[in-house]
Amino acid sequence: MTDIHALVRQNILNLKPYSSARSEFDGDGQIWLDANENPYGNGLNRYPDPLQLEVKYPLADLLGISPANLFIGNGSDEAIDLIIRIFCQPGKDRVAILSPTYGMYKVSADINEAEVIDIPLNEDFDIDFENTRQIIAQTTPKLLFICSPNNPTGNELDPEKIELLADAYQGIVVIDQAYAEFSKRALSLHKFLESHDNVIFLRTFSKSWGLAGIRAGIAISSPAIIDLLNKVKPPYNVNTLSQEVILNAIENHKAIMRRKDKLVEHLGYLKEGLKKLGVVKRIYPSDSNFILVQFDNAKRVYDILAESGIVVRDRSAMVEGCLRITVGTPDENDILIQTLKEIS
Ligand SMILES: *Cc1c(COP(=O)(O)O)cnc(C)c1O
Repeated sequence: MTDIHALVRQNILNLKPYSSARSEFDGDGQIWLDANENPYGNGLNRYPDPLQLEVKYPLADLLGISPANLFIGNGSDEAIDLIIRIFCQPGKDRVAILSPTYGMYKVSADINEAEVIDIPLNEDFDIDFENTRQIIAQTTPKLLFICSPNNPTGNELDPEKIELLADAYQGIVVIDQAYAEFSKRALSLHKFLESHDNVIFLRTFSKSWGLAGIRAGIAISSPAIIDLLNKVKPPYNVNTLSQEVILNAIENHKAIMRRKDKLVEHLGYLKEGLKKLGVVKRIYPSDSNFILVQFDNAKRVYDILAESGIVVRDRSAMVEGCLRITVGTPDENDILIQTLKEIS
């Protein structure tokens, strides 16, 4: 057992959270005169449920966990920021990341004035266990962010090494699984939740669910940590429309996941197409919906694609010569390959 509260900032432990009108009344209300809302109904005149319980019950069912293990945020980016704010005292506490990785960990840490300990992944973009363990022991960060499948490299990290790190670590491990549904090797939530109360998993509706526009992300953790997230979040952080869309998506989960499986197939074809091209130097393995591709002249390839209206992500500052390419529709992927062929 981890003493979670010993890791939390004192002001957050002391915090008396904002108590919203909707969370103070517990009963069967008929006439709502408590929240200064407009009484004339249009379906959106009332504040949303601050704890999104109607969404959490079916979502917890789907994930095979309890609603008490669930937090829903305005994107998982909101959860990342909240986690840093709960555990890291500005100017004092540190956050470890395994790079190259998702840029928001550092941005949120910088905003919250938490020093970032940058631990490199090995050549295969997997965890360099001994080095990571040593740096963590020396720098004692409050939080360790592990992104798996990792962005921008695309690969799943070794689950055994993740588990060994989590076992040995005295702080909070955040395992960002934004792309878990695309991976055949993703770490199992349940096993980890049972054995680790210091782990926070992040999931999102933005990628496999196809709902980036509603801004909804999920944190999955021990009830003690979920309570802290709920204490610090803005009261109405997930709006009514987004909650309705999530409920609807959960009902259509099977169809949405079939569409996701199609994307994994398209990614396979995209990879085959890329392999045949002269400009492509290296294709990194992917357990996600994008591929990291190394080119002889990434800047030139990027510019030519951009002139054709094809926008990819230049990651050459993070991994030399690399562009990150998201899988599109089969037509979009074909046009990309055709354009790259002309460059070759
Ligand atoms: C896309 C992405 C997210 C998702 O962020 P949202 O705020 O939920 O849209 C989180 N983590 C990683 C690594 C990502 O690539």
